[in-house]
This record gives sequence, C-alpha cells and structure tokens, in this order.
Amino acid sequence: MMTNVSVVTPDGSVFEDDAEMVSAKSEQGEIGVLPNHIPLVTPLTIDAVRVKKEGSQETIAVSGGFMEVRPDKVTILAEAAERPNEIDVERAREAKKRAEERLDKNDEEIDKKRAKNALMRAEIRLKVADRT
Ligand code: ATP
Repeated sequence: MMTNVSVVTPDGSVFEDDAEMVSAKSEQGEIGVLPNHIPLVTPLTIDAVRVKKEGSQETIAVSGGFMEVRPDKVTILAEAAERPNEIDVERAREAKKRAEERLDKNDEEIDKKRAKNALMRAEIRLKVADRT
C-alpha cells in the first residue's frame, strides 16, 4: 500500500511521489503517516519531512505550513520547502549567522521570535543538505 505525497509551496510543487510512510513534525509532536491514515489537518513546525519508499528515504526542508492527511494522499502546503540538492548551503550559513547575531544582541528593537524562526529555517536547511 502506498500513499501519494505532495509538497507544494506558493512557488509551485517541490515534491510528488508515492510513499510507504511520511513523517513530519506537528506542533503536538512527530507524526508518522502510513497508508489509510485517518483524515486530519495539522500545522507543521519548521523541520525536515521524511518520505520513505522501498528502503530509501527522501528528506525535504519544510518551513512551516500545514499537512492534510487523507487515506490515500498526504498534501503538505508549506511557506517554503527545498529538497537537499536545491539548498544553497552558503546562503543558509549566512542566514544562520545573521540570525545568531540578532539573537546575541540585547536590543529591544530586535524581533527575537523572527530571528529564532530564521535560525531554525537555516539549521533545518543545513541538516537536510547534510552540511551542519
Ligand atoms: P534568507 O535570509 O537566506 O532569505 P530565509 O529563511 O529568510 O532565508 P525564506 O523566507 O524561508 O528564506 O525563503 C524564501 C525563498 O527562498 C523560498 O523560496 C525558499 O525556498 C528559498 N530559500 C531560502 N533559503 C534558501 C537556501 N539556503 N537554499 C535554497 N533556497 C532557499
């Protein structure tokens, strides 16, 4: 049994394939979805989504959004998503550095939540690109 998985962003489709299992991190924790899962919709945190098929695993960096599960289909609607070979490692390193510098400053003007989210996006991208 397979589930069709698609990851879509405002820029278009990033991933689509049949899979045996997809795991993603919701705000309540990690969810592993097998075929025939009960329908649900959940917000996702910034994390790697893993798609398993025939013993191999594909990871996708997902920067928040929603996952809709139906018995035969999983759709992830993300603000941004990248497959490993689409990730610009240098750009992610720079983004990580900028975010860390912002978090280090004791400045009331700095939006710490925004900097934390930027840091998480950069860290997930580096992890998915396997370059942490
Ligand atoms: P930056 O500060 O480098 O722009 P960001 O986390 O603010 O990073 P986002 O707003 O999450 O960037 O993404 C904007 C667009 O750029 C999205 O289409 C996203 O897929 C793409 N993108 C962001 N960082 C990278 C990266 N390191 N490699 C490839 N694409 C990226």
